[in-house]
Amino acid sequence: MQPIILLMANVLRLDDHPALSKAVETGAPVIPLYVFDEDSPNVRPYGAASKWWLMHSLEKLQGRFKDLGSRLIIAKGKTVDIVTKLVQDLDASAVYLTRGYTPGSKWIEDTLNIELDELGVPCRRFGGNLLLEPEQVRTKAGGIYTVFTPFWKACKELIDETKPKPAPDEIRAPDEWPNSLSIDDLDLKPKPVNWAKGMDQAWEQGTEAALERLDDFLNEASADYSKNRDKPGVDGTSKMSPYLTFGEISPRMIWSRTKAYIADNPSAQKGAEKFLSEVGWREFSWHLLFNFPEMQTEPMRENFADFPWKEGMGEDVKAWQKGMTGFPIVDAGMRQLWQTGWMHNRVRMIVASFLVKDLLWHWHVGEDWFWDTLVDADFGNNIASWQWVSGCGADAAPYFRIFNPITQGFKFDSDGDYIREFVPELAGLPNKYIHEPFEAPEDVLADAGVKLGETYPNPMVNRKETRARALEAFESIKKSD
Ligand code: FAD
Repeated sequence: MQPIILLMANVLRLDDHPALSKAVETGAPVIPLYVFDEDSPNVRPYGAASKWWLMHSLEKLQGRFKDLGSRLIIAKGKTVDIVTKLVQDLDASAVYLTRGYTPGSKWIEDTLNIELDELGVPCRRFGGNLLLEPEQVRTKAGGIYTVFTPFWKACKELIDETKPKPAPDEIRAPDEWPNSLSIDDLDLKPKPVNWAKGMDQAWEQGTEAALERLDDFLNEASADYSKNRDKPGVDGTSKMSPYLTFGEISPRMIWSRTKAYIADNPSAQKGAEKFLSEVGWREFSWHLLFNFPEMQTEPMRENFADFPWKEGMGEDVKAWQKGMTGFPIVDAGMRQLWQTGWMHNRVRMIVASFLVKDLLWHWHVGEDWFWDTLVDADFGNNIASWQWVSGCGADAAPYFRIFNPITQGFKFDSDGDYIREFVPELAGLPNKYIHEPFEAPEDVLADAGVKLGETYPNPMVNRKETRARALEAFESIKKSD
């Protein structure tokens, strides 16, 4: 029987993988293929932290295929060229894949479809990355939702409640396997030194690890999620984001497992439903990006095109990246990102606001840094969230709401645990000054071993002034509106 090529792009799992299940159901041999493609048009190259995650994720996936008597074939280059050549070399009967929604994946899928059509080989596309396909969710008038609440309400009425299919028990192997690169050939290892030691400690990749983490979250934290999700010093969120980004777990697996948990634990309903609505924000981001692809570079609110943001690089951006701004919660967040490849959502909002509003840098500058350093760097979520914080996105935070890093710190990290973990040079300060060491009397600083300007920076800006400057800039585009 002619084999089917199963293209695995960012669906690095065997469970709830419709393209895989359908390929197996045909009874044909299946050749799973992963193409590391940074060469096709519109494809955004991976950031360094994503490459590190991908390397480990592929190792796990190889192991899973091996257990089922199959293999993962690895290739590098332009997906369309590689797949069409393989189809001809192996006389494949079809190509099955999971739809992606970035401009790059759309280009690859459309072009592949045309090329395969010329060869008389069907290209079958399946869902799996989202709860609902973007075309499914429309307003009553057939329009596109740009506000989250009605969007999510509509989604909840449409979501398929059937249980996702588990991984197949067996995958039929072809008589002969094509050649494969090794994972090492993809050159994904951190270089020139292993800067990923903190990430090695913080994460384990793969579907098994994702499900274990999800179960721990549901059992231990979901009931209090609404209360704790904003506290960066508390382990109160699921940390599902990198697993979702790389498709090691699907949103449907999360939905189904969470709903089952709620059925057995009704007291956790409020928190767990809130958690699902955050998964809804991920749907919303992708929905926006799919329908408004120009938002990857342009503001959703047109008047922001004239906003006097700075572009490029400056010493203040470097201080922000290193977590040396002199504002403890900003510095803790940026160091958490550097050490673990992840940052708490509340703190992402604070550091982003600081960069785009207090320092007046364009959101691209921050979005690029996050893209390079986050293990959950997600094309849709990252762009939509940066636009949201900047005030120029759909359903965005109002521009004039400028996060105050000091009051945010006292409100959400009142006992200073988060600062003490990631800015240890301030650990000896009493809670009263942990978020504003520059207000501490000399003797308090001395007792805590803090020398401002030496062991920890002085605040890099006067926030009264930067806030006024941001509001003035906002007024200037309001006038041009
Ligand atoms: P939980 O609170 O447990 O939420 C569960 C899931 O819901 C998350 O894994 C995520 O998929 C989704 N989710 C949660 N909050 C949001 C949100 N505000 N917007 C969209 N989806 C959400 N998320 C990414 O996955 N990748 C990114 O590159 C990314 N960049 C961001 C940049 C900025 C400036 C901001 C403010 C937020 C960004 N987020 C991004 C959203 C959010 O911060 C993370 O999804 C969340 O912190 C991940 O942690 P968690 O899995 O424990 O979340």
